[in-house]
Amino acid sequence: MKAMILDVPGHPLREADVPDPVAGPGQVLLRVSACAVCRTDLHVLDGELTKPKLPLVLGHEIVGVVEASGAGSSRFAPGDRVGVPWLGWTCGQCRHCASGSENLCHLARFTGYDLDGGFAEKAVADERFCFPIPEVFDDVEAAPLLCAGLIGYRTLRMAGEPRSVGIWGFGAAAHLVAQVAGCEGREVFAFTRPGDAASQAFARSLGVAWAGGSDELPPVPLDAALVFAPVGALVPAALRSVRKGGVVVCGGIHMSDIPAFPYALLWGERSLRSVANLTRKDGEEFLALAARAGVRSQIRPYPLAEANEALADLRAGRLEGAAVLVPAATPAREGARGRRRRTPGS
Ligand SMILES: [Zn+2]
Ligand SMILES: [Zn+2]
Repeated sequence: MKAMILDVPGHPLREADVPDPVAGPGQVLLRVSACAVCRTDLHVLDGELTKPKLPLVLGHEIVGVVEASGAGSSRFAPGDRVGVPWLGWTCGQCRHCASGSENLCHLARFTGYDLDGGFAEKAVADERFCFPIPEVFDDVEAAPLLCAGLIGYRTLRMAGEPRSVGIWGFGAAAHLVAQVAGCEGREVFAFTRPGDAASQAFARSLGVAWAGGSDELPPVPLDAALVFAPVGALVPAALRSVRKGGVVVCGGIHMSDIPAFPYALLWGERSLRSVANLTRKDGEEFLALAARAGVRSQIRPYPLAEANEALADLRAGRLEGAAVLVPAATPAREGARGRRRRTPGS
């Protein structure tokens, strides 16, 4: 099969012909239809997440069709369409696994980091960590739901029941969580790089109440702030924007250092917390909600061989929504709803 291989962090991915993976016990073998590109892939590529398996196939937002099952695997049949997220395996026994927080498992293995992922024509995955994909979504549209969507969802849930919610960094996660929050009747405020009129217009097209630069204050103090951009300086800015008792939730896996800030920004019972990974329950809840709420992914498709270009576009902020890699050999399946949203010109 063709795969894009990370040999050494800091270097571009290498296109290679490699042997097909084989489904082990409890695993399924998938023909990959689509795999979205996440900022976490950039953090691995750049060596900011320091312990990847090497060589590695990146990619943890995989939509694929089951081709075969390993010994003891019976959850899916050949031809079933499934999604594979970041959480690839947990121990099932530690205090976190035993208490509904498998996202914090000490021994967890992650797709596209500890395990080979979906920047390839085929992939294997533990069937217990795969999700059936609701019929309404087509392949490329479903892919960003599997991390951007469901990490965004967990981040929103960690904010409680905010009536007003600010989102810092209006990329793949934000454009999905903004739709979910809007659907739940919350007022959404979008913060982009200062002067990024295109991203602000994109946010407004999704129905947000207000869009502006991250150097601006919202017109009213917010109940909650979600920070998706990997920029530590946004944390004090987000704290400054929430009311007393408000919460700031950081949704990314890596962030530049948070600068010192006056205690007054935190005082007033404001809280600051992070979200790490996902649970299978998050995935099941979010995919059902996204289908019910009519969430639409804005995607830009790239051939698998152009993974480096997709990563560069993500890094430079040239994307609205999400980049999705599509292997040439695989005809992508259309969803029950018809044509997806696409970035103009793609
Ligand atoms: Zn565990
Ligand atoms: Zn991700």
